[in-house]
Amino acid sequence: MKRPSKLKRRIRKFTFISIIIFLFFTIVGSSNINYYQPIQHTVIRNNIKTPSAIPFIPDQQLDDQQRFLDTITHQIPNTPQPNTYEYILLRAYGTVFINQNPEIKLPSKVILNNEKETLNFQDNLQLTLVEGTQECYLQKVAADAFNQARNIIDIPLKSGYSGDCTRSYATNLRFWRKYTNNQTLERVKQGRETTILGVVAPPGTSQHLWGLALDLSVSNSAQREALKQNGWFQTVENDVPHWTYLGWDEESLRKFGLQEKTVRGITYWLTPI
Ligand SMILES: [Zn+2]
Repeated sequence: MKRPSKLKRRIRKFTFISIIIFLFFTIVGSSNINYYQPIQHTVIRNNIKTPSAIPFIPDQQLDDQQRFLDTITHQIPNTPQPNTYEYILLRAYGTVFINQNPEIKLPSKVILNNEKETLNFQDNLQLTLVEGTQECYLQKVAADAFNQARNIIDIPLKSGYSGDCTRSYATNLRFWRKYTNNQTLERVKQGRETTILGVVAPPGTSQHLWGLALDLSVSNSAQREALKQNGWFQTVENDVPHWTYLGWDEESLRKFGLQEKTVRGITYWLTPI
């Protein structure tokens, strides 16, 4: 067998080394690319639901209750089940969940369990000071809508303090304790006490925690009209000063199953459950 010439051996050696060098840089280079690529952060935010850009409209052939519940199923991961405390709260305060503006953040459940969970939720809100107030904060979309209503006609806050607007868990709890005794919560959970829900919300359940509610001092129909035109409605039966930002015109509320009910001259939009 003929031995390869010295030149051929050199060429082979050179080729071999070239391949090794090429492989080395290819591997190191690609691993560098991987290493320096920004990590795709998947932020899982507790207790937050951000509506998508395309609104969910339930099947209009369904009855009110099913349209509402289908909307809730679309909006929060664990729809409260009948005969639970959560369902009682959904009935009392759940109108908020028809909001579908992508800039509005909704809680992913009807109860925020403590101050920490509340702060965790509120930290992710775009809270904005309402024009002409010292301490009234709302989610920006709701604040803008309220400012618009007040461009039409003056609408005073109920007390003028921050508690009229976005509240802390501690304030929710303080208000609750002011109007209740140590058996009230248990009675609410058992479904034996419902009237209190129109006076004060149990700890961690107020729409005021979510930056989408206002307590107002409304005294005429022009003020009511301005609020309704801008997506604000009375949604908690017998809580006269309390207004909720729903973000839809009045015509649209029925699409989600909400029902109109007039009590002592006040028209409320209530959940159908
Ligand atoms: Zn209120």
